[in-house]
Parts: sequence; C-alpha cells; structure tokens
Amino acid sequence: MVDMPQQPLAQVPQDAVWDWQEHGSCRKADPSLFFHPQNERGSARRSRDLAAKAVCASCPVRIECADYAVRAREPYGVWGGLTEEEREAIYARIDIAEYPRQRGQGAIAAAEEIDQALRPLAVIA
Ligand code: SF4
Repeated sequence: MVDMPQQPLAQVPQDAVWDWQEHGSCRKADPSLFFHPQNERGSARRSRDLAAKAVCASCPVRIECADYAVRAREPYGVWGGLTEEEREAIYARIDIAEYPRQRGQGAIAAAEEIDQALRPLAVIA
C-alpha cells in the first residue's frame, strides 16, 4: 500500500485496537475499491465509492470501523461505509476542542452519518 500524507489533525487514537479488522468484509474484497486513484472524479468516483459501501453494508464490524475512522480523522478511503467527503463533513461539524477520541465516542458523535452512509445503496437497489 502507498503511504498517504495525513491531515494535520489526523491521528491514531491512543486507545486504538485493531482486532476488529480481522473480521472486516473488505479482507476478501479488492482493496482498490476503498481508496481512490489519483485524479479520480465524477461518476468513476461515485461508482467506486458505492461499490465500497456495498462491501461495508454486510460487514460485521462496520460500526467499529467507522468509529475508528472518525476518531482518527482518517483522511483517505471508505471506512465504515463513510466516504472521505462524508467524513470531512463530520470533521467540520465537530468542534476540535470537543473532538471524540475515546473508543466508541466516534460512533456516537457521528451516529446519524453512519446510519445514513448506506442509504445511497437503497437508491440503486
Ligand atoms: S466497514 Fe468497510 S472498510 Fe470497514 S472493515 Fe468493514 S468492509 Fe472494511
């Protein structure tokens, strides 16, 4: 995997654990679904994001994954069914002084967005 630059406020939470990744549905999926190639735009990006969301939809650790990504302010990729743009909106809405860093707090702070993240799949179903 290519090392990606991190946003200034992106950071791995101190209490991060990784055991949930062992159970992620993406372990059997094409990794390129989850991270956009350079200069990907428009319908190509939407299609790839939707394909990644479809994998996340049946993932047994989706909430843990989304919680981690929100807490880490993960800048790249689809995590927990949330695209980069959807997470950017979460990062922008939460005051950095009150930003969730403890395990489980990200899922609570972004519960509505996590719930809505898979709704685009219903439109194309
Ligand atoms: S929610 Fe999606 S990105 Fe996260 S572990 Fe599951 S399949 Fe992978």
